[in-house]
Amino acid sequence: MPARSMEELVALCKRRGFVFQASELYGGLQGVYDYGPLGVELKNNLKAAWWRAMVYERDDVEGLDSAILTNRKVLQYSGHEATFTDPMVDCRQCRARWRADHLEGGRCPKCGSDDLTEPRPFNLMFRTQVGPVEDASSTAYLRPETAQSIFTNFKHVVDATSRRLPFGIAQVGKAFRNEITPRNFIFRVREFEQMELEFFVEPGTDEEWHETWVQERLDWWRRQGIDPNRLELYRVPPEELAHYSKATFDVMYRFPHGVEELEGIANRTDFDLGSHTKDQDSLGIDASVEENPDSNARLAIRDLQSGTWRVPYVIEPSAGVDRGVLAVLNEAYRVETLDNGSTRTVLGLKPHLAPVKVAVLPLKRNHEGIVARARAIRKELQALGFGRVLYEDTGNIGKGYRRHDEVGTPLCLTVDFQTIEEDDTVTVRDRDTMAQTRLAVAELPAYVGEYFSAGAGS
Ligand code: ATP
Repeated sequence: MPARSMEELVALCKRRGFVFQASELYGGLQGVYDYGPLGVELKNNLKAAWWRAMVYERDDVEGLDSAILTNRKVLQYSGHEATFTDPMVDCRQCRARWRADHLEGGRCPKCGSDDLTEPRPFNLMFRTQVGPVEDASSTAYLRPETAQSIFTNFKHVVDATSRRLPFGIAQVGKAFRNEITPRNFIFRVREFEQMELEFFVEPGTDEEWHETWVQERLDWWRRQGIDPNRLELYRVPPEELAHYSKATFDVMYRFPHGVEELEGIANRTDFDLGSHTKDQDSLGIDASVEENPDSNARLAIRDLQSGTWRVPYVIEPSAGVDRGVLAVLNEAYRVETLDNGSTRTVLGLKPHLAPVKVAVLPLKRNHEGIVARARAIRKELQALGFGRVLYEDTGNIGKGYRRHDEVGTPLCLTVDFQTIEEDDTVTVRDRDTMAQTRLAVAELPAYVGEYFSAGAGS
C-alpha cells in the first residue's frame, strides 16, 4: 500500500531530509521547495535512470544542457508570450486569486463567496532583465519548459552529430512557471525540473511514433516501481490541447491528492521548428506555420535521397522530476505491523533509486578495531561506484536498521566482534525481508555489485 495521505509523505520528507520548504527561515516562498541530503540523491537517481533509458540504452538520442535565461523572441515565436496562460479569477470579497478551471462550484476556496470576476488570461512566464539597462530590449524569460532550447539548438546538434531522422534530443533541467495557485507539496510548484525528449520524425510517421513513445514511457514508470494500477492514460480532448499540439496523451498517476498528470506525451508536429525557421519559401519548405523574419536559422533537415528540405515532426515525452519524486515516494512508502505488534515504516524504493545504497554500522561506536574495519569496508564499497555508501555509528543497531528502513536503504552491513576477532564476516541485513545473513567481507564487492547492477538499467 502506498502512503495514506500527503501529510504522511510531507512529514517523512521533512523529518528525514528529503524536501524542505524553500526560504523557510523567512516564512518560505510559496510554490518553491529545496531538496535535502536524501532528496537530492533520490532526485539525481531518478534523473539518471531517465538519462540511461533515453540516451545510453538507445542509439538514436543525443543529450543537451541549455541555458535557463531565454531570449524573448524565442518565446514570442514559440507562441508562449501570447498563449502560455491559465484563466484567473479574483474574489471580490477577500481579494484572493484563483485558477478558474480549478474552482469547485464557482466559489472562492478561501472565503466561500461566489462574487468572482470573469476569468482572464494570466501569463505563467517569469520575466526578468538581462544586463544593467532596464528597457524592452533587455527583457528575457526564465524558460517555462526545457523544450524550446532543444528546438533552437536543433541545427547545431544535427551539424555536430550528422544525425538523420528519426532521432531525438534529451534534456533534464529547471523550468519556471508562475502558477496562480501552487499546491499539493511538490506536485504543482513554481520552480521545477523536467525530463524532456524531443524525438524528430518524418512527417507521416508521427502517429506511429507517438504510440510507441506512450508505451515506452508507461513501461519506464513501471520500472521505477510505479504500480500500473495507479497509472492511467488520458487522451487530452481537442479543446484542451496546448497551442502546439496535434494530439496529447497524459500519463496520469493516483497521487495522494487525486489522479493527476505525471507526464505529457505530445505530438508537436512541425509547429516549433517551423516557427523558428526563416526562408521557408526559398528552400521550398512546407511548414504549417508562417515564415520567421527574425530567426537566422533553417531548422530543417535535408533528405539525402531526394535532396529536399523538410521540417521534421516531433514527438515529445515530457515528464516532471518533482512529480516523479512524489510518485515514487508515494509508491514506496508503507507502514508494516510486525509479529511483536510494533510497526515499522519502510520506503521500498527500487535499489537504483535508493538515496543510500548500503549503510555500514559498527556494533560499538567506541571500539577502535570495529570502527576501523567498518570504515575500511565503507571506503572499499564506495569506490565501486554504484552509489552512496554511508558509515553510521548511531550505536544502536536496531535503531539504525529502522532509520534506514524509513529512508529506503536496501542493505545494512553490521561489523561486530566476530568480524574482527574470528572470521572477517559481517551481517548483511535486507530492508524488505529483514533477513540477516553472514557474508565474508571478501565477498561483499561481488555481492553488492550484483545486487545494484540488477536495477541499473531501470
Ligand atoms: P498541468 O496541467 O498539471 O498544469 P501541464 O499540462 O501544464 O501540467 P506540461 O506543460 O505538459 O504540464 O509539462 C510537462 C510536465 O512538466 C508535466 O507533466 C509535469 O510533470 C511537469 N510540470 C508542469 N508544470 C509543473 C509544475 N507547476 N510543478 C511541477 N511539475 C510541473
